[in-house]
Amino acid sequence: PKASRGICGADAHAIAGRNYLRMVAAGTSAHSDHAREILHILHTSSADGNYHVRDEQKLLRLALEWEIPTEGRDIYDIAHEVAEVGLQEFGKSFGTQLFLKRATKERQQVWHDQGIEPRAIDREIATAMHMTHMGNTADPEFLVRQGLRTSLSNGWGGSMLGTEITDILFGTPTVRTTEGNLGVLEKDMVNIVVHGHDPVFSEMVVTAAEVKELVDYAKSKGAKGINMVGLCCTANEVAMRHGVRMAGNFLQQENAILTGVVEMMCVDVQCIFPSLAPLSECFHTKFVTSSPIARIPGSIYIEFKPETAFDQAKDLIRMAIDNFQNRDNAKTYIPPTKQTAVVGYPTEQIIKQLDGVTNSHLDEIGSYKPAIDAIKAGVLRGAVAIVGCNNPRVRPDYSHFEIMKELLANDVLIVATGCAAQVATKAGLLNKEAKYLCGDGLRRVCELAD
Ligand code: SF4
Repeated sequence: PKASRGICGADAHAIAGRNYLRMVAAGTSAHSDHAREILHILHTSSADGNYHVRDEQKLLRLALEWEIPTEGRDIYDIAHEVAEVGLQEFGKSFGTQLFLKRATKERQQVWHDQGIEPRAIDREIATAMHMTHMGNTADPEFLVRQGLRTSLSNGWGGSMLGTEITDILFGTPTVRTTEGNLGVLEKDMVNIVVHGHDPVFSEMVVTAAEVKELVDYAKSKGAKGINMVGLCCTANEVAMRHGVRMAGNFLQQENAILTGVVEMMCVDVQCIFPSLAPLSECFHTKFVTSSPIARIPGSIYIEFKPETAFDQAKDLIRMAIDNFQNRDNAKTYIPPTKQTAVVGYPTEQIIKQLDGVTNSHLDEIGSYKPAIDAIKAGVLRGAVAIVGCNNPRVRPDYSHFEIMKELLANDVLIVATGCAAQVATKAGLLNKEAKYLCGDGLRRVCELAD
């Protein structure tokens, strides 16, 4: 730097701390706003509308946790009240996040002692923005502390709300076998890529693609059918709930269009390259944006509305089918790479799998105890969540893969999502053969749980 301090006297620590906190605030706003949208959808859900309650048991458990009466009430009345309580988590004036109580007592005490229990999600974001506005906090320790508090409001607030409500609306994922990488695109079919994060959009598009009338329409246009694939975090959502195959992760979005066989790429929010618009123009691909949060020049903008969602989704599928005839076969190449993956492990599924290795005469079932016992005994050395984005500054997927390999070899169980899960897919780590990369302890546990 030319000078050791900025014109106001802020040093490098203050500047780096402020930038860091602003990044945390931006990330929290994105993930939590996603949850807010889903809660609004739950609030509009109805038996005869476009969005329904698919996991009633999960809804009832959450209502119980939040002390919402359920006895003798219509499931949609309960859903709407759950949505209202959830929405309060964003802006309530007093108190901390409700889900903090799910953590162990010891963990709650640490947060309390450190003064970082998150309050309303929007408040933590606003506080972060205020602290980093001109002339406020310059002590990096307090910027980092607010970073922790803001990210806790995301992890134990927005993201947890998003997961719960998504499962309630679209069903809790179950184990499915699918495939991943660009080789899942099909030469003879209408290829539609759903990309982004918000299943409110992709669920409708995927469901519409299964409508027989549309499949027949695709066939009438010379295609063998409709090939729906996912990209980025949306790929995980639709893979876990429908077995939809995954075309790739963040740094492969342009590659999908470059294959020349994508009739439509339709997107909702987050991780959408603006370059998709000019790139689509080099091919026949229709690039459709659907959310006011992600407006991109050069795209076809069709704002998705809950009241008309399914009809809009069917219109999109028809548009993609009509575009099949415009494909230029001289410009197509589908890389012949894909891997099988077994996906769909929410907490319920993990516990179910662990029940299979529980001695039901001695131990309680329905808990993580077998995994905890394996960790206590040293057979497993721990569990690590890799929730990772890709970054063009380093070789795509490289660091994720190297870290995963090392952890597996050292008997550490990995829970992966986002682009990291797709790295694991492409590298073949989500199928049973990957046990040969594991250390002895983890391999034994995998074999037992299988
Ligand atoms: S993991 Fe990160 S980079 Fe990948 S799609 Fe999700 S948010 Fe985007």
